[in-house]
Amino acid sequence: MIRLPMYAAFSLLATASAAYYAFSSREQFYPAMVYLSTSKICFVLLLNTGLVAMCVAWQLARRLFLGSLREAEVERLNEQSWREVIEILFAVTIFRQDFSVSFLAMVAALLLVKALHWLAQKRVEYIETTPSVPLLSHIRIVSFMVFLLTVDCLFLSNSLRSLIQKREASVAIFFSFEYTILATSTLSTFVKYIFYVSDMLMEGQWERKAVYTFYLELISDLVHLSLYMLFFIAIFLNYGVPLHLIRELYETFRSFRIRIADYIRYRKITSNMNERFPEATSEELDASDATCIICREEMTTAKKLLCGHLFHVHCLRSWLERQHTCPTCRAPIVPADNGRAASSRQHGAQAGVQPGVFLFLYFSDLISLPHIFLF
Ligand SMILES: [Zn+2]
Ligand SMILES: [Zn+2]
Repeated sequence: MIRLPMYAAFSLLATASAAYYAFSSREQFYPAMVYLSTSKICFVLLLNTGLVAMCVAWQLARRLFLGSLREAEVERLNEQSWREVIEILFAVTIFRQDFSVSFLAMVAALLLVKALHWLAQKRVEYIETTPSVPLLSHIRIVSFMVFLLTVDCLFLSNSLRSLIQKREASVAIFFSFEYTILATSTLSTFVKYIFYVSDMLMEGQWERKAVYTFYLELISDLVHLSLYMLFFIAIFLNYGVPLHLIRELYETFRSFRIRIADYIRYRKITSNMNERFPEATSEELDASDATCIICREEMTTAKKLLCGHLFHVHCLRSWLERQHTCPTCRAPIVPADNGRAASSRQHGAQAGVQPGVFLFLYFSDLISLPHIFLF
């Protein structure tokens, strides 16, 4: 496999030799430029160099803000890229009248920017679940999120400007929509991260965190749902049915529903934590090694679950925000009638990672070729 630096060097060399050839054979600046801008080979070389430059910029940003990637991050990148490429190809068929080189470049940029967003989200999740993260990682992730937000806003204002200038439906609708979604997701991840840091500063005792997180996610889901619908309507009125959006619309709606069910459940368990879970006796504490598996610190008081495992009360509360099974043995924390809800939560948590892949053919009335539609 050719490495990116080598490929970049080759591309640069090829472009430079094309420029050299143009200038040495035409001898004057203007004819040389005409040759460079009309020759097909030069065009391909320049396009290639542009794409390589984008990839190099992407790698630099990734290295600067994230360092080396963890396995889970690489996995997410691979999984999501394919889905995204197919969805973007769909979008391209909708906007094919606007097809141009700059459109292609914008699509490539969008893909790369999106990939950075997935990595940022994954890294924040990792930081939130890892005890004692070094300060440098915090500084890096905060600057990364600020960087992403700036990039989103720049692209968004760019697309909005072209939309306002032309005053007609164009591919700029697509980019405006995509970058609005990206910007709101980054904002929501950032606020969630702030909640996490505040909780950490209060030594994990901030009881309202789950409530605020819930409202944050609810608002962000609502915003996304309305954006998707707006975009759907805009495309429908101007171009036809945006099939590539149906999956995302459905997933956003589903996550919204699961979120509400989860929150109700969480409130039910945590509202009476003191009565629901008995205090561990000092004998029980001695019998176990008195270390809380969630925070790995010693326990002087603890709550006992039905399975007999012991945890700090505040650790248990923050654990319940994410999971409803025992951290040690995975037994359901609330048995019997709530079992169904627990499995639905687990399912919901994995929904983003392992999407069901449905393959079907549809014959678009926009163009006469059959498409393979993955969602
Ligand atoms: Zn603990
Ligand atoms: Zn257990």
